[in-house]
Amino acid sequence: MPSPHVFPRHTKAEMPVAVGGDGCYLIDETGKRYLDGCGGAAVSCLGHSDKAVVEAIKTQLDALPYAHTGFFTSKPAEALADRLADKAPEGLNRVYFVSGGSEAAEAALKLARQYFWEKGEKARANVIARWQSYHGNTLGALAAGGNRWRRAQFEPLLTDAMHHIDPCHYWRWGEPGESEEDYGRRVADQLEEKILELGPETVAAFMAEPVVGATMGAVPPVAGYFKRIREICDRYGVLLILDEVMCGMGRTGTLFACEQDGVVPDMILIAKGLGAGYQPIGATIVADHIYATLEQGSGFFQHGHTYIGHPTACAAGVAVLDQIESRDLLANVNRVGSYLKSALQERFGQHPNVGDVRGRGMFLGLELVADRDTKAPFDPSDKVAPSIKKAAMADGLMVYPMGGTIDGERGDHVLIAPPFILTEAQADELVDKLGRAMDAVL
Ligand code: PLP
Repeated sequence: MPSPHVFPRHTKAEMPVAVGGDGCYLIDETGKRYLDGCGGAAVSCLGHSDKAVVEAIKTQLDALPYAHTGFFTSKPAEALADRLADKAPEGLNRVYFVSGGSEAAEAALKLARQYFWEKGEKARANVIARWQSYHGNTLGALAAGGNRWRRAQFEPLLTDAMHHIDPCHYWRWGEPGESEEDYGRRVADQLEEKILELGPETVAAFMAEPVVGATMGAVPPVAGYFKRIREICDRYGVLLILDEVMCGMGRTGTLFACEQDGVVPDMILIAKGLGAGYQPIGATIVADHIYATLEQGSGFFQHGHTYIGHPTACAAGVAVLDQIESRDLLANVNRVGSYLKSALQERFGQHPNVGDVRGRGMFLGLELVADRDTKAPFDPSDKVAPSIKKAAMADGLMVYPMGGTIDGERGDHVLIAPPFILTEAQADELVDKLGRAMDAVL
C-alpha cells in the first residue's frame, strides 16, 4: 500500500512498488516483471543488477562516502575525470561534476556567461537554443528548453535572455521537394539569422541536443546540420554546447553522440547513463580554452552545489565506464539496436498511426500520427501516449511515450531506450508487447 505521505510527481496515477531488478527487468512487490524498454528515461544503460557497479559503490562507501569539494578532491572524481577527458572529443579536457542533467545544463549556461564576462565581453549574455528541445526542469535549463507545454505555466519565471530557432526534424518539417541537405542548411542558417538579429556581440552560446530525446522521440539531425552549426558558431565567436544528457554515454552507439556528426563542441553535457541509475551524477565537459580563461582570470567558477564531485557517485561512474568498455557494450548497442530498429520497422512500418520509425543505436522512436498521409498529430485530449504507457505496463513493458501537444506543435511519440545489455530475444519481447499495447489503444 503506497504511503499517503509521499508527494508523487503523478498524483493521480497508481504506481506499482518496485522492489528488485534482474538485468533488463524490474520487479514489483507482487513479483511481476517489467521489461525495461526505456531505461526509465534513458538512464539504466546497464540494467538493474550490475554487480560490479554495486560492488564499486560499496567499496567506495567503506573507504569514503563523501568529502566536500570546498575542502578536498577525491580519488574517484580524479579517476572519472581522467577517463572522460580521455574519451571526449579533442580539446575537451576539463570535467565539472554535478548530480544530474538539469544541473549540467545550469553549469554550462553559467560557465558560458562567466567565460565571456572574464574575457571582458560582458554584453554576451544571450543564449540561443531550439524549439522542441529539453534541457532540464530547473529554471535556467527550462528557459533554454523549447518545449512549450513544459514552459507554459512558468513563462513569467523564465529569463528573456534565451532565444529559440527551429529544430532539425526533416520528416516533420521538410518542405515538399526539399532535399535533406537543403533542409539542414535552411534550419541551421536560422542560427546565423538569430545571431545577427540579436547582435553577435550579445550572444554567448548555442545549446542543442545532438539527437533530440524527450520532446521529439529520438530524432537525429540530417547529415551536415551540426557541421554548419559549428561553422556559424565559429564565425561569430559563439560557444557550442551539446546536451548529451539523454543521447550520450554510448546510447547512440558511440560514447558521445556528436562523434557521428563530426563536430567538436565547446561543452558537452552528460548525466543519465553516466551513473546508469546506480548513483545520481552528471558532468559538464569543458574545452581547454574555456577552462584556461577562468584559470588565468578569477580562478573561481562562481557556481556550485553541495554534492558536486560526490565520491560515491564518481566511483559508480568509473565502474559504469569499466563495464561499457570491458564488455564491449557499444558493439551490442549497435548490433542489437539495429536488430531492434528493423523489428520495429517491420512491425510498425505500415501501421496507420505510425508516421516514422527512427533513431540511432539503442535510442529509437516511433512518431504516432492520427493520419499517416497528412502526418496530422493526435489531439492531446485523445491521451494516446499515456494510454500506451498504461497498457504496456499492464503487460509488463516499460516504454516512454510522450504527448501533451499544445498549439498543435508536437505529436505523440514513443521513446525506446533499453539497457545496452538487451538481447535479440528481449528485443522481440519488447516489440511484441509494444504491438499489443498499441493495438489495445489505437
Ligand atoms: N537534458 C536532456 C537532453 C534531458 O533529456 C534531460 C532529462 O530528461 C535533462 C537535460 C535533465 O536531466 P535531469 O532530469 O537529470 O535533471
